[in-house]
Formats: sequence, C-alpha cells, structure tokens
Amino acid sequence: MCGIVGFTGKDNALPILLKGLYSLEYRGYDSAGIAAFTKDGLTVVKSRGRIANLEDKIHAEGGITACCGIGHTRWATHGEPSDRNSHPHLGGKGKVAVVHNGIIENYLELRSQLEKHGYVFQSETDTETVAHLVDYLHTGKHEELAMTVLKAIGMLRGSYALGVVSMDDTSEIVAARRDNPLVIGLGDGENMIASDITAIISRTRKYIILDDGEVAIVRPDSVTVMNSFGDIVEKQPQEVNWDLSAAEKGGYEHFMIKEIMEQPQAVSNTIHPRIKDGKVVFEDEGLTDERLANAHHIHIIGCGSALHAGMVGRSIIEKLSRVRCTAWVASEFRYENPIIEPDDLCIVISQSGETADTLAAMRQAKQAGAYTAAIVNVVSSTIAREADGVLYLWAGPEIAVATTKAYSAQLGALYLFAVKLASVRGTITAAQEKTYCDALYAVPKQIEKMLETKGQMQYLATRYANRSSVFYLGRTLDYAAAMEASLKLKEVSYVHSEAYAAGELKHGTISLIEHGTLVVALATQPELYEKTISNIREVASRGAEVILIAGDGFEGDTSCCNYVLHLPKIPPELSASLSIVPLQLLAYYIAVERSCDVDKPRNLAKSVTVE
Ligand code: GLU
Repeated sequence: MCGIVGFTGKDNALPILLKGLYSLEYRGYDSAGIAAFTKDGLTVVKSRGRIANLEDKIHAEGGITACCGIGHTRWATHGEPSDRNSHPHLGGKGKVAVVHNGIIENYLELRSQLEKHGYVFQSETDTETVAHLVDYLHTGKHEELAMTVLKAIGMLRGSYALGVVSMDDTSEIVAARRDNPLVIGLGDGENMIASDITAIISRTRKYIILDDGEVAIVRPDSVTVMNSFGDIVEKQPQEVNWDLSAAEKGGYEHFMIKEIMEQPQAVSNTIHPRIKDGKVVFEDEGLTDERLANAHHIHIIGCGSALHAGMVGRSIIEKLSRVRCTAWVASEFRYENPIIEPDDLCIVISQSGETADTLAAMRQAKQAGAYTAAIVNVVSSTIAREADGVLYLWAGPEIAVATTKAYSAQLGALYLFAVKLASVRGTITAAQEKTYCDALYAVPKQIEKMLETKGQMQYLATRYANRSSVFYLGRTLDYAAAMEASLKLKEVSYVHSEAYAAGELKHGTISLIEHGTLVVALATQPELYEKTISNIREVASRGAEVILIAGDGFEGDTSCCNYVLHLPKIPPELSASLSIVPLQLLAYYIAVERSCDVDKPRNLAKSVTVE
C-alpha cells in the first residue's frame, strides 16, 4: 500500500516524480504529495485525492523546478485522507521531509516524547513522528543524515519503507526499509528510489533491492547501502526483464480488461515451461521431490483472491494425493496458534510477494520448522526471497487493483503443484500424470476460448447492472471459484454479493432471495450436477434470475435458468480456470455500466503491506 518515489539527478525531478506516482497510484490513491529542493528551499505540495489533483495544484502554484525530490501516494492508515495528513511530512522547522509506507506501531509513545521536546504536530499520522524524530536526532549533530536515520529506525517499531531528505544536502535521498518494499533505480548520473519497479522503468532498467534493516544513501552519482551496524553492504544490481509496454494500457480502456485478456499468455508463462514429456518439472524452485514426498500436512496461506486460488488448490491437492491440506486466511493463521510440525509444507501465495499478513504467516511457519514454498509473481519480492522454495508465476506486471491474470496464474501454479505432489507420492500413475499434463498444457488455449464470451457478458452486464445484491453458488471447487467471482464483483462494482456453498443457502440466507435477485451458479463437477441443479431450482422458484456456468456434458434440466454457459471439455479438477473467466468479464462490465473507477476501486489498494 502507498507508493514512494524519489529522484536525484540533473533533470527536473517534477515530471519524473509525477510519472512515478502515476505508475504507483494502484498502491494507494487517497492523497498525494511531493517535496523537492527548489531555489526557495524545501518546497512541499500536497493534495487530497488522486495524483491528477496534486498535479493541478502544483501547476496552479507555478510549478516546481528541482533536481532532487520525493513523492508519495497514500493509502491512509492513521488519519483521514486530507491535505494535512498527506505525505511528505516535515520534521522540526521544515528542514527534513519524510515519505513513508507502513505503520509505526509505537508512534504515540514517540510522539509524546517529542512533544515534550517542543515538537508541534500538524497531522494525525504516525509518519510525522518519524520526520520529527529524524529532525530531533539530527539537529546540531554534524553527522550524516543516513547515520541519523539509522539511529531513528532503531527506535521504531512496526513496518516502514522510508524516503528522507534534508536541507543539509539538497541532492541526497536517504532510504530505509523494514517489511515494506523499496527498490533503488540505478541510472546514469541519476538515481531513484521507489516502492516498485514500475516507477523507475521509464528512466532505468537496473535496480537493487533494499533489505530489511538497511539504509541507502542515494546521490546522483552514487548509491551506498549500509546494514544496521553502519557497515557498507555490496548489493548485486538486477535488471528488469519486462517492457514498459507491459505496464501500460496498450489501447484498452482499463488495466483490468487488458489483464483479463492477457490471461492465456500469463497462464502459459506459468504452466508451459514446467511441463516436459508428460511430467511436471520443477527446476530451480528449490522444491525437491523428497520435500514433497515427505510433507505430512500442507497448509496453504493467502489473502483475498490468493486465498481463493489456495482453496481451489486445497481441494485438488487432497483429491489427487490424499494428503491432509488446509487453506488458511493469512491474518487468521497468525493468531490461531496453528499446529505446525517440522514435516509440514506451507504454500504461501501472494501476487506482490509483499502482502504483510502472508509474509508474517510464512515467517511464523518457518520458525515452527515447516518447509515454505511461495507462489509469487513479483521477482525478488520479500516472500520470494525468504521462502525455502519459490514458484514464480511469470505473469508480467499486474496493475489493476482487482487481480485477474495473477489469480489465474496462481491456479495454474497450484495445479502443477497438485499433479507433481501426487506423482512423487505415487497416488497417480505416470499415464494419469501425462493426461493431467496434457490437459494443463491446453488450459491457456481454453481460456482464450472463454474470452470469446466477452460480448455475452457485456450484454448480461447491461441487464443486471442495476441489481443491489448478487449471490454466487457452487459446491466444492465451484464454491471456491464462486468466492473469487463474488469478490471480483464487489471489488470493482460495489454491488453487494455473497458466495455460498450451494447446499448451505437454505440454512438461512435463502431468506434474502426475492423476485429479481441475481444468482450466479457454477456446476462444473459432474458428480454434483444434480445436487446443484436442485439448489438452483430452490432459488428460481423464489423469484431469482439465474445465470448458470455448467461443465461440459451437463445434462440437467436448465429451464429454470435465464442464461446458461457451457464450458468446453476439461478435467473437472481444472474447471476453475475456465469458469472464472466469464465471471471476471461480468464483474468488469457491470462496474463499467455503473461508471465505477474499475482500476482503482474505492478504499482498496493493491499489494497490502499493512496488517
Ligand atoms: N501510516 C501512514 C499514514 O497513514 C502511511 C500509510 C501508507 O502506507 O500509505 O499516513
């Protein structure tokens, strides 16, 4: 959550910072601000709302010309979104400015100490404490700003990525991090800091990743990184391996629809390189056959859509390999005191690889002795680096806040996992493995087919966009898929929706079904076709209008449904990859019909780096 960017070089920092902020806006967008060294000193402009408001305000105030500055787009945790609470925050008498991503847990304690030393707070944020603390520790000390920041972070509890500037050196940015991402872009005579690569890629493809506890001194011609002892650390530069165009809309109206349409490629990137000669092959992921063969209990951990992918994965893993498997909400796993044994395997799923709850749950599992395997999209993210094994999605950057292609790629990764596990544990034969691999290999092509339902879903959206409540029903795998479909709709369209295990609705919630309520039912598991159609009849006879996503060969009586879509032939275990596609499209088009801000839904942010 929240985006940080900083630039120091020879060119005017303003357009570079604004461009960086626009590309980070998906991380948080309730307010934004910039601090830069102009001829008048440390100039700060902040504004509630989107980056465009900030840009207008800067131009209305006569623009900014500076070679060094920092910027921030906020997802408020402490204090309402307002000009005052926006970052950057100034320390002391305005000598120091700070941008921050995360939460300072002991900010009240520090704030009252600083108030005793005469500091006057302008905002309700936890971040302003850091600005005053740095000012307090720095004033009159004749030490490098970085050394002061090192001392300051030693006094902070919580999570942070920080960008700090001071009037002492108007071409220097000091950066620090703990549990929140921060990269340093390495340019020619210029350098940058940013919450993620999308903000630097228009200037440079070379970057280093700051690790927890490290502090970086970023100047136009040099970047120096220190560890918590103040010792210099040599960092290995990395190169971005995707194009700027991947992070741009490329003619689509929204990132969400672009990413929905990119799913065949994304899923193929995850699956195809890992299928060889009818077998699933994990090469450099650190997931040895021995590890998988010995896993006693598998815990799958995730949040939001990653959790839903995990729920589908759980069902398939248990079915194919008969090993006990539990899907966990990451934030619950942390506080449930879960039983973890040294032979357990924890699969943690996070698109960004920075999700705070998932990261904390993974660390906890690791500490309890479990082997941790991460399914992650962002290369070298914290979860990817800390896990014992990693399965990258290689799905390309995902910008829309509501995930689509990363979710589908996560499903792909979990299928690979399930088949591999069953193979090494001997619960499927070589012939069965080959059958699954062939079917898996064909999934991207079949997703392509599902995308052809675009026009139909657009039509259904016009018909149903005015409904105030939608129910999604399914059994087993279809229930997990229903949860994801329902989440997609509420995220982007703000229509209330709920997913129910089809057999559970009559135990209470059916009281909400009335004339015209939209029910989307999924029935892709042949052994459950009849059961689910009975549940559909129950709601239809109470006035619901029903859209049915049916598996291949579904032969039940569908006269009670208003619209039926049949999936192409696919092993039922893999159907979730196909059934979700029309429902993503339906959610998207309903949101468009309702004039919602599809890529940046209210109150949300991608990459949830706070607890
Ligand atoms: N906790 C800080 C605030 O509320 C930073 C939030 C963020 O990461 O955007 O301002």
